[in-house]
Amino acid sequence: MDTYVPQRILLGPGPSDCHPEVLKAMASPLIGHLDPVFLEYMNETMERLRRVFQTGHSLTLAMPGTGSAGMETVFVNALEPGDKVVIGIAGAFGERMADVASRTGAEVIPVRAPWGGIVEPEQIRSALRSHSGVKAVALVHAETSTGVWQPLEEIGGMARDCGALFIVDAVTSLGGVPVRVDEVGIDACYSGTQKCLGAPPGLSPATFSPRFEEMLERRTKKVQSWYLDLTMVRQYWGQERFYHHTAPITMVYALHRALGVLLEEGLDAAFRRHLVNGRALQAGLEAMGLRLFAEEGHRLPQLTSVWIPDGVEDAAVRARLLKEYGIEIGGGLGEVKGRVWRIGLLGHSSRRRNVFLLLSALEQILGEAGCRTEPGAGCAAAEAVYRNPAIIR
Ligand SMILES: *Cc1c(COP(=O)(O)O)cnc(C)c1O
Repeated sequence: MDTYVPQRILLGPGPSDCHPEVLKAMASPLIGHLDPVFLEYMNETMERLRRVFQTGHSLTLAMPGTGSAGMETVFVNALEPGDKVVIGIAGAFGERMADVASRTGAEVIPVRAPWGGIVEPEQIRSALRSHSGVKAVALVHAETSTGVWQPLEEIGGMARDCGALFIVDAVTSLGGVPVRVDEVGIDACYSGTQKCLGAPPGLSPATFSPRFEEMLERRTKKVQSWYLDLTMVRQYWGQERFYHHTAPITMVYALHRALGVLLEEGLDAAFRRHLVNGRALQAGLEAMGLRLFAEEGHRLPQLTSVWIPDGVEDAAVRARLLKEYGIEIGGGLGEVKGRVWRIGLLGHSSRRRNVFLLLSALEQILGEAGCRTEPGAGCAAAEAVYRNPAIIR
């Protein structure tokens, strides 16, 4: 090997550790992207994605590119110049949605809430009251910049009641917490492979309702992006198999296997694993005297945001974690840059041993930085959660 890559434990906001089965699948030889065997992999990947998105939508596929490519796919296909879209914004990824949507020439109606909290249904209701003819309502399900878990049901119902499409960013939620596309009535939902699915970055799984497809038929202008135009991409993933672009073959192997691993574990078991590990970590951090950033009651288990204690230097701590322990965690984004850490227990990274490793390493480093924490308190609090899962919410 002429490239040296150290072994890390990826506990940031993504990418997460790849499952070894996924890495093995990626070492398979290339075959053609129209080879019947590869087409079978594509079909199976679509079927597995439907199970993971909990949907029957036939237009369920994986766009080439990272999560942001899925975001852009949804907005360029859904919106035409002059269309109105209501976007809930309580963090960096809500802001990104608004930026992407505005570039289509659509009118973005931003509904902002403070970072660390959710977008309240009442806020969306009042936006829908004061604007007529809204074409779509969009929300981030798991706001990775804050660690907040946004409830979807009520706002989804409001979108449906006024005939708007309901768009959901599930980049950090898919595979970590339930994403019930059909039950909630989501018309367009996209994710990414490197968060809770345990594969490398490179594909964006996405699913679209029949209502979304009908809207596509009624467009008056061609989709402005050739590469992300679903009217063509769906003919490549569909039975027509019209060549559109060369599928990233190796990434499809990776996603296919990652979904296989997830479904073999079982969705409910995977959600439970994320929940228990996340709550154990959060209990441990609080027992060490740290304060969590996301509002209680709306905390994601797979992404924990925590205030950096006063007098502790963000970059120095993260550099020590990486250099001395091989652990990566994330810094803050946007308005909390330098003030919070973001700790991911995403996909295959969501393991009990990682919780204890990180709590111990942090205790050591913060202790040396002058934060007084009772020795072992973090790990003891985490252990208490594992011993008594009944206390988990
Ligand atoms: C990571 C992330 C994205 C962007 O995904 P990339 O793969 O980095 O392009 C979008 N939305 C959310 C909520 C994310 O966490």
